[in-house]
Amino acid sequence: MRALLRWPFFLGCLSAGFGFSAGNALAQSGRAPSAAASPAVAAPSVAAPAPAAPAVAARTILAIGAHAGDMELTTGAVLLAAAQRGDRVVILHLTLGEGGNPRLTPDEYGAQKRRETLAVAKALGAEVMFGPYRDGEIPNDEAARRYVADVIRQVKPTQLFTHWKESLHKDHWITSAIVQEAVLLAALPGVQLAHPAHRGIRALWYADNWEDATNFTPFVFVKVADTLDAWRAAVAQYEFARGAIAGFPYVDYYTALATVRGAVVYKGKAVAFAVEPEARRRVLDALP
Ligand SMILES: [Zn+2]
Repeated sequence: MRALLRWPFFLGCLSAGFGFSAGNALAQSGRAPSAAASPAVAAPSVAAPAPAAPAVAARTILAIGAHAGDMELTTGAVLLAAAQRGDRVVILHLTLGEGGNPRLTPDEYGAQKRRETLAVAKALGAEVMFGPYRDGEIPNDEAARRYVADVIRQVKPTQLFTHWKESLHKDHWITSAIVQEAVLLAALPGVQLAHPAHRGIRALWYADNWEDATNFTPFVFVKVADTLDAWRAAVAQYEFARGAIAGFPYVDYYTALATVRGAVVYKGKAVAFAVEPEARRRVLDALP
């Protein structure tokens, strides 16, 4: 029964996740941790569809990463494409990733990361929320699950991106675990949080991250040929992403990965995601 309770929504497929979009207003803003329980984002204003267009519900995509930069590097080209189509895009960073620069104190690097995060989000057409946690110290506890659940209730996503379940980085797999549990908490009306229950998530997709590669299998591929150059310019605003701090060439790696993922699905450039087993299920009335 628990498995049924865990997924009280349709776990999306490629066709359901990305396609036509209605036009939503976009706003970009920084959020202090204490602001998490207050409305952080404007309500979407949906443009009237063209007369001949099919009626498609507006999308809100919420990407939840452990460190500022994680979601933008792995899914940013998809987020940018969604924003350009008029979807609302929100990125929640549970930490700034402020511990990653040996030449600066966490406070100094955190201030830099915050500036970089806001600039990258603006370039991607995304809103930003900052969680209350410190780099390397994301707690895998009920309070964190309830915090993320209330962000989900506040943002009301239709699509949710986060880390894959297994990772060499503790913050990453804990974030994944928190998000999976938070989806359930957010959906249950009996769970008392600041915002009312939200059950509208159509897809939970796991990002393709080199640090989260253990048992990661890509199942969903999204073409990003049209946004890859702009994504690359956006994320290069992170000093660490240019390889200037730890030496790992993040931007080059994820650019190359888009070529690899795109090649196997004949889309030129693509970003891949893992999904839950339930989302791979196919139910047919007859052989296709
Ligand atoms: Zn990270």
